[in-house]
Amino acid sequence: EQTLTGKVAIITGASSGIGKAAAIRLAEAGANIGLVDLKEENAEEVKEQIEQIGRKAIITDTDVSDPKRVKDSIDQVIESLGRLDIVFANAGINGKVAPIEDITPEEWDQTLTTNLKSTFLTTKYAVPHMKKNGGSIIITSSINGNRTFKNIGMSAYSTSKAGQMAFGKMAALELSNYHIRVNIICPGAINTNIGQNTFKEKKELKKVDIPVKYPKGDQPLEHKPGEPEQVADLVHFLASDASSHISGTELYIDGAQSLL
Ligand code: NAD
Repeated sequence: EQTLTGKVAIITGASSGIGKAAAIRLAEAGANIGLVDLKEENAEEVKEQIEQIGRKAIITDTDVSDPKRVKDSIDQVIESLGRLDIVFANAGINGKVAPIEDITPEEWDQTLTTNLKSTFLTTKYAVPHMKKNGGSIIITSSINGNRTFKNIGMSAYSTSKAGQMAFGKMAALELSNYHIRVNIICPGAINTNIGQNTFKEKKELKKVDIPVKYPKGDQPLEHKPGEPEQVADLVHFLASDASSHISGTELYIDGAQSLL
């Protein structure tokens, strides 16, 4: 059963890419949505689309690496939409793409904080609201979390994505006590803004002459990057009772890219 009627979802990184597609898909399935993003103005269009579907949406402009703002924004969603059933911890950045010796400790921290600490914070402040009724938490990691794909220069990103996998599994075990399921999705190359940034940064990296041949991000199944809407299908499945016996898993959504 994939209906989400009467449910409330919080989505981080909801203004763009995968988060935006998931927000619209979950609303189409019946959920009301808390849209969390740094870029509040970009969330307006997502809010409008959700309202056209006939569902409610509220926007909180939050930096997911800031504990107080994460807590406040989750509280704001509960206050406006009344409950919390689904959390999509998805906001993320590529961060500095550079050789290890050129990444400053501050740049390292920024990537780890935005991608990994944020996942902890979002979960931490959501759980008290989900303990009574149970629910589903979905974390966006990456195929880069346990494979390199010759992406030299992405050490901070890959470390953050591996950390999300470990955190997601520990959370799945711990939160099963409250019937909260936790799953980790691992997209391959997906056609979003983050991909364009990566491409630009990789080009710059080539200039610094790292002796690596970059993969073209080819995907055996479709020979092109996936679309955010394809990832949204998986998020919908994991958010719904159709996946009621699935928790603690990593699901790859990469057109078989991780088999290369
Ligand atoms: P995107 O850049 O299109 O969207 C990311 C959103 O997160 C943006 O709206 C941005 O404003 C928001 N965000 C960034 N930092 C934030 C912060 N500190 N607080 C609040 N919001 C913040 O990128 P996307 O591709 O949709 O990325 C979503 C997730 O998917 C990320 O975790 C990314 O690592 C992961 N991912 C993407 C790909 C890909 O190829 N696109 C592949 C694997 C994993």
